[in-house]
Amino acid sequence: MRIHRLKLSGFKSFVEPAELRIEPGLTGIVGPNGCGKSNLLEAIRWVMGESSPKSMRGGGMEDVIFAGTAHRPPRAFAEVVLKADTVARGDTTREELEVVRRIERGAGSAYRINGRDVRAKDVALIFADAATGAHSPALVSQGRIAAVIAAKPAERRAMLEEAAGIAGLHVRRKDAEQRLRATEANLARLDDIMAGLD
Ligand code: ATP
Repeated sequence: MRIHRLKLSGFKSFVEPAELRIEPGLTGIVGPNGCGKSNLLEAIRWVMGESSPKSMRGGGMEDVIFAGTAHRPPRAFAEVVLKADTVARGDTTREELEVVRRIERGAGSAYRINGRDVRAKDVALIFADAATGAHSPALVSQGRIAAVIAAKPAERRAMLEEAAGIAGLHVRRKDAEQRLRATEANLARLDDIMAGLD
């Protein structure tokens, strides 16, 4: 997957709609203190499904919405659009992917993939399968390198699994196990009912 465009509106300090082109290769963000460099990286993580307000440096998820200044009123919503090229496994055709996450005050987050309403989980899986995501080591924020050095073996393993694109398999395995347990419970109930009919 190659991310090539990012659009922000009402997200943290990006009150006016802003659009960024991301060129191939390594991208660095430079600028004076407080200009919004970390906010940009957080926007990428957020649209990929980040669910922890703490890792967005906020107390609640609505803190990502532009909070207003002495001269500007707060915004009612924040929206981030990410555009990327993807290649399906075992295929060579490139497909355009557009992921949108929007949060409104009092209404929570809503996600869309290529114009279709989806769940947060669907968004996280699409990025996990492409070996990226909200916790991808490819997004190097401040303090991240020190955190990688200090990580425990299990945390390092999670990073490697994410980089290898297999993190989504764990989620699918958990889902499958839950469905299996529900089916086993249904079968046991059916056995009881059949025994009652004998
Ligand atoms: P540094 O180089 O000091 O780490 P930075 O360029 O990474 O700074 P950010 O941390 O991305 O800057 O941005 C901080 C700015 O974003 C602050 O001015 C802060 O007030 C503003 N900000 C954060 N959340 C919001 C919000 N919800 N509404 C309005 N402004 C916000």
